Amino acid sequence: MPEVLLHFSIPFSAVFSITGRLRYAFLAGVFGVIPDLDILFEIHRSPTHSIPVLLAVAVPVLVMLSSRNSRFLKASEIGLFGMLSHPILDLFDGYTPILWPLSSYSPWIKFSVEAYLSSTPSLNVDCQVLWQPTIFHPVETIGGVLVTPLGAVISAALMLPPLVMVAIHYYKFLRSLD
Ligand SMILES: [Zn+2]
Repeated sequence: MPEVLLHFSIPFSAVFSITGRLRYAFLAGVFGVIPDLDILFEIHRSPTHSIPVLLAVAVPVLVMLSSRNSRFLKASEIGLFGMLSHPILDLFDGYTPILWPLSSYSPWIKFSVEAYLSSTPSLNVDCQVLWQPTIFHPVETIGGVLVTPLGAVISAALMLPPLVMVAIHYYKFLRSLD
């Protein structure tokens, strides 16, 4: 799986860029991590990584909330967006049961790109979709990568601008109260 921090920071940044709301961005980030909680049950890339399963759970909740409070509905839609982002990101990092149980095979989009700028510039792009039968293996040890140096830099680039922007906004607001 991509590290946990990226599962948080990517939906965080996407939702902030759409809504401009920090609380919605945090909500998307938190829900973006939730599918990996299957690790606590000693299984990884379980049905929590399946879009049909996530929709089957979330759509009845959305329908129920749509008749009540529009704020809850929006929060639920953002939570669903965060959760759906998770298996899509995992898809680029290994076999993911994203279509289970509609398909008994798990895809992996193996994408690589290498570009060199030199006296003889080169560009190599390779993209394959690999498939393997879906088998839910128990994991030997409970755990996963929380953060890597590259993931920390990318997450900082995604999350710091919104955080700084909101901090400046509140600072100006507080100054205006003086
Ligand atoms: Zn995952």
